[in-house]
Amino acid sequence: MKTAFTFAEEGLLHDTGPRHPERPDRLRAIRDAFEAAGLKPPRLEAKRASRDDLLRIHTAEHIDTIEESCRSAGHYPDADTVMMEASWDAALLAAGSAIGACEAVLDGAFDSAFNAMRPPGHHAERDHAMGFCLFNNVAIAAKWLTDARGLSRVAILDWDVHHGNGTQHSLYDDPSVYYISLHQFPHYPGTGRAEERGEANTNLNIPMAPGVSAELWLEAIETVVVPTLETFDPEILLISCGFDAHKNDPLSDQNLTTDDFAEMTRRIKGIAGGRIVSLLEGGYDTQALGESSVAHFRALQE
Ligand SMILES: [Zn+2]
Repeated sequence: MKTAFTFAEEGLLHDTGPRHPERPDRLRAIRDAFEAAGLKPPRLEAKRASRDDLLRIHTAEHIDTIEESCRSAGHYPDADTVMMEASWDAALLAAGSAIGACEAVLDGAFDSAFNAMRPPGHHAERDHAMGFCLFNNVAIAAKWLTDARGLSRVAILDWDVHHGNGTQHSLYDDPSVYYISLHQFPHYPGTGRAEERGEANTNLNIPMAPGVSAELWLEAIETVVVPTLETFDPEILLISCGFDAHKNDPLSDQNLTTDDFAEMTRRIKGIAGGRIVSLLEGGYDTQALGESSVAHFRALQE
């Protein structure tokens, strides 16, 4: 399989400080792990989202507030979400490159793609930033696919250990986008109950109790995620690809190994004819993040 990789130096300039979990070292760890593994994937050039791209999900007020907060390095009313001047460009590139990867896969230039970009996106709501996320990259890409490219069935699989509240809320009643999330529950951000199904039953939460086995995640993929997605029959599958369900992750209490991320990837590869665009979300143990990214990428490539 031909799998593209997107990485931009600008992602390193969104400097949240050395003690922030969502820090530039995350991307360095992925870049270094790819190098150490001898992986030299074809690169897709990062591109910036336009204002119209952002407006498919976010309010104009939110976009203006984020731009202003970045320019002034001002205090945004979410203690977790740090911004400085270079954050604006990094955020536009993370969102725009999500669209760029979808375009490359949709047009057949690549079978699949993995974007190692930050800031992440799945906690960003229509009208506010939260949980390290400024713009909701995956939701913006999904809306581009349906509204700009006319797709009628787009799926998002979110296996970041946190629930993607922003993605769920932005697409909750949209029958053309099926959102499935596996996440630790109870946990940040507090949303993601199984009974939250959406107007058209196109929202599916699979909560995992703290400390459960990796086998339970793999079983859920096999017995719930794959059959559900096969029935929905998406034209493309987006992955909100957090690696923070890894057993070494400091922000969660799950037990996945690096190999489990490869195995989850293999199990969903038959969906959408293998047209998969995977977007980095969380993952805060840099060694686990780098190694899991390599394992995930290799499984996409196989
Ligand atoms: Zn997360």
